[in-house]
Amino acid sequence: MYELACPACNSASQFDIQDYLLMCPFCSATFGIDMESGQKDVFGDHYIVANTSNASQLKSLITEWLKRLDHKPGSSEKEYFITNIRGLSIPYWIVSMECHTAWKGLVQKQNRSRIDTQSGNDYLIESGQFKRNYRWAISARANICETWGISRLHEPKEDVQAQWDGFPLDSTFSRGQIQDIQNSKSAYDSREFFEFKFANGLPILGIQIKDEEAIRRSRMHVEQYHLSLARNNVDYLIDCRTEIEIAGIQLIHLPFWYASYVYRPKSVLRHFYRPKEKNVIVEGYNNGILAGELPIQHRDKLWVNSIVSGIATLAFLLLGLAWHPSLFLVALFGMVITAASAYSAANKADQSIKIGENKNEPLKVGG
Ligand SMILES: [Zn+2]
Repeated sequence: MYELACPACNSASQFDIQDYLLMCPFCSATFGIDMESGQKDVFGDHYIVANTSNASQLKSLITEWLKRLDHKPGSSEKEYFITNIRGLSIPYWIVSMECHTAWKGLVQKQNRSRIDTQSGNDYLIESGQFKRNYRWAISARANICETWGISRLHEPKEDVQAQWDGFPLDSTFSRGQIQDIQNSKSAYDSREFFEFKFANGLPILGIQIKDEEAIRRSRMHVEQYHLSLARNNVDYLIDCRTEIEIAGIQLIHLPFWYASYVYRPKSVLRHFYRPKEKNVIVEGYNNGILAGELPIQHRDKLWVNSIVSGIATLAFLLLGLAWHPSLFLVALFGMVITAASAYSAANKADQSIKIGENKNEPLKVGG
């Protein structure tokens, strides 16, 4: 920490000079400092999307979401326990960009009466182009994994698995709603010039990443995204070129809520199920649930299944010994099911799920 005077209001306060930009706690001015010359420059393009939620509102929202996922909506309130909930105002560089992609590739002919794969006559060359605009959000935090779920918020509506941490702001901050939307304006349009008061009590995280890096990363993300989109058009992609025009960049603090919960089933399941903390991420503008883990995942069910069938197998084995050897066959069958369940449970990776209606359509330009 380092004591500096604010270039806007002249009040002295403590700053972490490792950060790229500093925020004055008195007048909310944002500025950069060159440590060699001591020169301070006020940074004007800093905004904040106000947090409109609070912890108790979020608790009932998440409970409501869990109830809807549950098969027996009545019983769930007593089975879910929210163990941790906290809000954060996280800085993002918002890169406005216009992107043109041209692609070319081979598509297999539908009419396969004459199969002639050797000469390649089975394929047609196709090409196309598309154009999209984004306000692409890049975290201004050095560690994108410091909060659960924040590192993978883009859920393309197309059949594409996002391999990048950036996301289109408009479609992300309008998805995952389980209640009526309270704010008719988009999160972007509701932004205010940065002032601490708009965080409404949330801790405001510092700005660690430079704007040049954000622009470079947003280009990389969109190139990857558009390459995946182009691949979906053809069987073999031959060429793909994306040209990106950067229209501007702003810094916006965005409100997020992170919660964890445990599920303690009241049914017989509880004897086989060890409660494990699961996570949920909600945006604090319209309360869209952006990412969340299911109370009992397929994987957990498979484990329960393998335990139950394991016990049954043992029982039939004992019955077979005591009573009639034909029961060994039943035990054998049980053993196969036990092994299969355990095998697939062990191989199943923990997956977070996609929630809500997918309103992820990126902004389209000119029809
Ligand atoms: Zn100040």
